[in-house]
Amino acid sequence: MGASTGARPPHQAATDPDDDEIEDPRKGAQEILWSVETVLPVAALTFDDGPHPDLTPPILDVLDRYGVKATFMVMGHCAEQYPDILREVVARGHEVGHHTWRHLHVTKTSSPTTREEIEVGTQVVEDVAGVPVHLFRPPQGRLSEAVVRVVAKMDQDVILWSVTRGRKRWQRPQQVAEHVVDETGTGDIIDLHDGIGRGTFEPASRTAAELMARRKVEVAALPRIIEGIQAKGVRLGTVTDLRAVRRPKTTRPRAPVTPGASDDGRRS
Ligand SMILES: [Zn+2]
Repeated sequence: MGASTGARPPHQAATDPDDDEIEDPRKGAQEILWSVETVLPVAALTFDDGPHPDLTPPILDVLDRYGVKATFMVMGHCAEQYPDILREVVARGHEVGHHTWRHLHVTKTSSPTTREEIEVGTQVVEDVAGVPVHLFRPPQGRLSEAVVRVVAKMDQDVILWSVTRGRKRWQRPQQVAEHVVDETGTGDIIDLHDGIGRGTFEPASRTAAELMARRKVEVAALPRIIEGIQAKGVRLGTVTDLRAVRRPKTTRPRAPVTPGASDDGRRS
């Protein structure tokens, strides 16, 4: 599918690059989240870069076995490549966000390309998955003003993470599982993978092979990760599950200002 036609969101943001207004029914509600303060012990499990035929199906089976729902941050290109797998993700009750179209580093791309990565990524994932997409995760968690602005215009929240698989070099699933379980508590967002990012475009490269090996360690670690976190009394769910148990923001009333009582030694 081409980037130039048929892949624009309904509000046609790309047709007016000078329009800086954020026209959005949720005006003021867009967020960037690393973790969430909650009233119940819940953490979110997320997977980036998929779908991928060697990674996503085994992950779905593990999640089913433990009755866990997760959020998949899908690459638009992979959704086009493996539409049936993405539909299976949705059919099994998981949540779908997006992770750009081609996993470009959108903080370094030109403004039209940044916009295209986010808009086409969204459109493709929505078309294939058949559900609206309101969550975005930038490749490598990198943000710029332009990225944040485009995402806000698309009525999406930026979902980053607070827990990773740990060191890239770790090859034993147990090592990864112990790290993730140790690091995860109430309100955390865990970032794992069901794809190989830019390696998708050079499947025969050494980078792709290294990424795939690393991802397979994550998949092998997943049962231990889920068991370990559940044993801590923390329930795993989607990003939306996590936000549903969020602690309401309390705004403490400020002390009333007494007229004429400003000379109390405070610096202005
Ligand atoms: Zn990625």
